[in-house]
Amino acid sequence: MAEKEINKIKMEIIEAGKRMLHKDLVIGTAGNISVRISGEDRILVTPSHVEYDKTEIDDILVVDSEGNVLEGDRNPSIETGMHIGVYKARPDVGAVVHSHAICTSAIASLGKTIPPFLDGLVSTIGGEIEVAEYGMPGSEELAENAVRALGEKNAVLLANHGSLCCGKNLKDALENTELVERVAQIFIFSSILGKPRNLPQEVVELQQGIFEMMR
Ligand SMILES: [Zn+2]
Repeated sequence: MAEKEINKIKMEIIEAGKRMLHKDLVIGTAGNISVRISGEDRILVTPSHVEYDKTEIDDILVVDSEGNVLEGDRNPSIETGMHIGVYKARPDVGAVVHSHAICTSAIASLGKTIPPFLDGLVSTIGGEIEVAEYGMPGSEELAENAVRALGEKNAVLLANHGSLCCGKNLKDALENTELVERVAQIFIFSSILGKPRNLPQEVVELQQGIFEMMR
């Protein structure tokens, strides 16, 4: 991919970071974003400890699938290994977003999954949103647990931490992050009022079929 196109993706990553910040999906320098360069062994990833609204184009790093820095002077995000793990397991994934959104993290802290209780959830995410077993931030254990619990879906909760969402491109990965937070909020509200009812099983299966088709 030409330098000009790579710079365009870097700008999109910067914009996505600002959107995450302004939508309250993260605070400070928490969370991270990556995009795989299609057909290449190169991944663009946000730097560690740089605020989203101060991130500049040269702050975005280029790493290979072993995590080696190919371009950039910053340190890549500590969760780069988790992002790489997803790309290795999922050839269909083009972008990964990791956030610490409030309602998502609240449910993840209970070690609870988000069941298929709302229309739009299954066709977009792929089914029940699982929760990955706890792993320390930045650890290989967290990366392995996240990739395993994510499976073939587009989102996974990270116990006591946040979420990881993916998609075929950055727009989808970011929208999935926003959707999961919204769904998490609705799940909490409906759990306060009673027990949220799952969608009928045939609807879940139908929506899973739509998800497979769109992937
Ligand atoms: Zn995190």
